[in-house]
Amino acid sequence: MEKIFMTTPLVEMDGDEMTRVMWQMIKDKLILPFVDLKTEYYDLGLVHRNETDDQVTIDSAEATKKYGVAVKCATITPNAARMTEYDLKEMWKSPNGTIRAILDGTVFRKPILVKGITPYIPTWTKPITIARHAYGDIYKNTELKAPKGSKAEIVITNEDGTETRALIHDFKTSDGIVQGVHNLDNSISSFARTCFNYALDQGEDLWFAAKDTISKTYDHRFKDIFAEIYENEYKAKFEAKGIEYFYTLIDDAVARVIRSEGGYIWACKNYDGDVMSDMLATAYGSLGLMTSVLVSPDGKYEYEAAHGTVTRHYYNHLKGERTSTNPIATIFAWSGALRKRGELDGLPDLMKFADALEKASIQTMEEGIMDKNLSAMSTLPDKRVVYTDEFLDEIAKRIKL
Ligand code: NAP
Ligand code: MG
Repeated sequence: MEKIFMTTPLVEMDGDEMTRVMWQMIKDKLILPFVDLKTEYYDLGLVHRNETDDQVTIDSAEATKKYGVAVKCATITPNAARMTEYDLKEMWKSPNGTIRAILDGTVFRKPILVKGITPYIPTWTKPITIARHAYGDIYKNTELKAPKGSKAEIVITNEDGTETRALIHDFKTSDGIVQGVHNLDNSISSFARTCFNYALDQGEDLWFAAKDTISKTYDHRFKDIFAEIYENEYKAKFEAKGIEYFYTLIDDAVARVIRSEGGYIWACKNYDGDVMSDMLATAYGSLGLMTSVLVSPDGKYEYEAAHGTVTRHYYNHLKGERTSTNPIATIFAWSGALRKRGELDGLPDLMKFADALEKASIQTMEEGIMDKNLSAMSTLPDKRVVYTDEFLDEIAKRIKL
């Protein structure tokens, strides 16, 4: 068989622990036998990030800007324990945070639906994709305690030195707390454009929700920016594609989401996205089936699994045990990236391969072959728990080109 041809390299970001082990297995068993794979390789494993003073993370993000499509393995975000475990020079920042900042990107999380894993909301027969605005609000706040007898104000000092003041609260009767939050028109606009572009790319409706009835300046600004950009830049394109954009109150959005069948993109402010993405992940069933893609406003894509490096399994692997870890979300990161590469470079065979790889993965699980965690959730009558490498072999057998 002739291998499928590629023209432009994918940016390949390797990672840590169990997902690093699976990364190599996925390439060996599912990609390299079929595709004449071209990648520009960046080792984002913690050892190499430490060796390069984290420069490799920045380089990989710059390469993504250059080539347009990346596939990323899960990586360790160091904490105090990792400082000792890896003898680190510094507590390096989260690679995902660094890459997101360089690409000015938005993360879209989408579950993979398979027979046997029924969402807690059984009417959700299609995936709900969630987009979180990952800048500002309470994640970049300033907080103070306010003692009884104090007065808290917001002060904006303009460039010319003049001040605009507003009273927050006069703490006459009790101690209290105050919080200052901000956002940027630039960042909200990038978020809005990325969401509109992604909805067009996926051919799905876009919902955006905030609390503008209560927050008449702050949340209202989000609503207005979305509305202006939609009217001026996207309305015609949405109509041509037969998809819809609408704004609604966050409470109404939650009610609609629960009653819906799925199949749309839900854009959220930072905090709503944080909470709702965890809620959706749990409700759909399994972290091992949650995909994630970082998209920049100018259309650069970085695909990954939403889960982490699966540390507990890795320690078992180091002890020489065979693990039963779910490779599906990482496989879909590869298929997503290869499909997008094929689309951008006009390579239909590469796109077909991505479809075939996803189909084989789903078929394997629907035939009852799966990892231990998924099997504990699956309602299929006949199940067979397999080790990670067997899972991949079973998928490989089912790839039909
Ligand atoms: P995690 O790696 O997602 O694992 C949490 C637990 O979920 C696992 O112990 C496992 O449960 C289950 N699980 C997750 N993915 C699975 C899979 N593919 N197959 C089977 N089971 C799976 O999260 P974590 O333990 O919080 O974080 C571990 C490391 O990952 C940390 O160093 C963190 O910094 C990093 N992390 C990276 C990313 C990223 O790069 N995007 C995201 C999150 C976390 P059982 O142990 O019960 O089997
Ligand atoms: Mg969260």
